Amino acid sequence: MPELPEVETVARQLAPHLRGRALTGVRVLWERTLGGSTRQAFGRAVRGLRIERVGRRGKHVVLETSRRGRDAGALVVHLRMTGRLVHGAPPGARGPHTRIVLALDDGTALRFDDPRKFGRMTYAPDPAAFFAHLGVEPLSDAFTGAWLVEALHARRRALKPLLLDQSVIAGLGNIYVDEALHRASLHPERTSRSVPRAKALRLHRAIRSLLRRAIEREGTSFDAAYRTPEGEPGTYQDHLRVYGREGRPCRACGRSIRRIVVGQRGTHVCTRCQPAPRRRRARTGARTTIRRARVDDAASVAAIHVRAWQHAYRGYVPQDHLDGLDAEAWTVDRRRWIREPRTPQHRVWVLERAGTVLGFAATGPSRDADGAEATGEVEAIYLDPELVGTGLGRRLFAYSLMALRRLGFREAVVWVLEGNERARRFYASAGCTLDPAVRTIRLGGADLQEVRYRRPLA
Ligand SMILES: [Zn+2]
Repeated sequence: MPELPEVETVARQLAPHLRGRALTGVRVLWERTLGGSTRQAFGRAVRGLRIERVGRRGKHVVLETSRRGRDAGALVVHLRMTGRLVHGAPPGARGPHTRIVLALDDGTALRFDDPRKFGRMTYAPDPAAFFAHLGVEPLSDAFTGAWLVEALHARRRALKPLLLDQSVIAGLGNIYVDEALHRASLHPERTSRSVPRAKALRLHRAIRSLLRRAIEREGTSFDAAYRTPEGEPGTYQDHLRVYGREGRPCRACGRSIRRIVVGQRGTHVCTRCQPAPRRRRARTGARTTIRRARVDDAASVAAIHVRAWQHAYRGYVPQDHLDGLDAEAWTVDRRRWIREPRTPQHRVWVLERAGTVLGFAATGPSRDADGAEATGEVEAIYLDPELVGTGLGRRLFAYSLMALRRLGFREAVVWVLEGNERARRFYASAGCTLDPAVRTIRLGGADLQEVRYRRPLA
């Protein structure tokens, strides 16, 4: 997926062609690329806009526009996995994967091609509000060494998930986080608060210089997905030190690069240059705890939610839908879920070990009318799929029931996908009984039946 240097390259290459051009026509060939808007509404909003500036915010290309000389919001493009912006072809020309064509007043066109259809083009009337959830730009003046020291020390999170969190720093992804951590000799699982000031400053310098060099080289074309608008691959892949180099010698010390999983993401490290953090309870095994979720947990919760859904709904929901789930987009929603619960009794709990979130559960009053206040609901209980069957789910469920009991509920209900044998066995063995109630939920265009289990909380 294109990260900051790739998106910056796209914006820079397009800018001279688009600046000052007016949008004379709009053709939407795949409506879902609009991310919720309709063809008609999008067409009405953008036809006649003039492109004033072409820039970038985080991993988004931003076309700032005006109408009759006044600011008129922005067209925001998120390329996601395979999206490409192509300028030049006359408005009629399009390829097999063209999703949107914007005709310009000089007879050329800007085309959005996207084979896998995960990319989005959105009209944002108020860009500041649209980007309110994004953190600091790592190449801006606001991103100073002191800022990063403060950001790391204010949190107790593993470094890699923290650096990937777009609400903290916008624009970094898997490639550049792995590379920056290697250059700063920091292990991705190290807790942010434990990073000494000097190392944090080194990480700050590494992030800035890495991004600048990658932009100079027009980004990283690690696979076929990313090409510049001119159709060329970037060349930064030749300078990668760890990313994608599993089993090959570290360019600094010669030891084999290893691939590990950190916060659900494949991660590349040199264990000599980036020593693993010492764990205080290494001998007895780190303690697993369950606690209230904090806003900081949103990215981990979203990542687990996406992976758990991809695991649990495989075969029930079109695969295209499951592949398209985007943890980054979900993070915004999960943050709201944690910060502004639907009712004061709703809670999100996370299961944590050594600073890593392994799973989460949500509890609250049941949404169906018949249970009245007596019924609490365990709305969700999700673990990293690799941990299913380890007993952690049972602990999380037991804790959820205890939480509901403390809130004064006398009975708990839980909805389970009909036909999910593993879930059925799990809840049956946890003292739940099947109830006649059935409901239908709609997910990715498929109708799914859920059955209800009840559990007294006496
Ligand atoms: Zn090394």
